[in-house]
Amino acid sequence: MNKAIIISAPSGAGKTTIVKNMLKIFPQLSFSISACTRPQRENEENGRDYYFISTEEFKEKIKNGEFIEWEEVYPGKFYGTLKKEVERIWKEGKIIIFDVDVKGAINLKKYFGEKAIAIYIMPPSLEVLENRLRNRNTETDETIKVRIERAKYELSFASEFDYIVINDNLELAIKETKNIISFFINAN
Ligand code: ADP
Ligand code: 5GP
Repeated sequence: MNKAIIISAPSGAGKTTIVKNMLKIFPQLSFSISACTRPQRENEENGRDYYFISTEEFKEKIKNGEFIEWEEVYPGKFYGTLKKEVERIWKEGKIIIFDVDVKGAINLKKYFGEKAIAIYIMPPSLEVLENRLRNRNTETDETIKVRIERAKYELSFASEFDYIVINDNLELAIKETKNIISFFINAN
């Protein structure tokens, strides 16, 4: 059976860190590269972390039905899962791992049903979340404020996920996520 793992969390909770670790641990996983319209960060690569495209291109793709799901995660900033990406990964015989926002995760889980599990990475508190965003040095005061507001809303959806992993101690969170994925991969 084609399988997919959906990882979600409020921004700054540590999902990118955890997803990168899972990709190292499990060679059978392949990351679904989303399309997005936010500016590229210094340490990011187009076609590896995201397909960075213009808002016009993004809207064209919506019109052409190229997305399984898409969200305006922050005002004016669009992110979406491309059908082509999913087909590419399954054709390679790999298991997809998604890093998407909370609404996107719930939509993907509905779309894939039994083929997928949805894992919520939970920060220990909003204060810790804010500190992590600050220390990451990728955000301005304004974007941190937007992300924290969004996080309050996103935290209310945790119970809709198959699993919740609290990312307090990173090593433990990685171990727990690894166990969940191992179980899912090895089940029928
Ligand atoms: P997300 O992808 O959810 O936005 P990141 O993986 O970018 O989050 O993590 C946000 C920041 O917090 C990064 O600088 C990361 O190194 C750091 N971080 C992740 N997990 C932990 C943890 N358990 N303890 C302390 N810092 C962490
Ligand atoms: P960032 O700007 O920090 O890379 O991502 C912001 C948020 O957008 C994160 O919660 C990330 O998981 C989410 N995101 C990334 N790609 C997608 C996608 O394809 N669909 C949706 N719905 N959210 C996405």
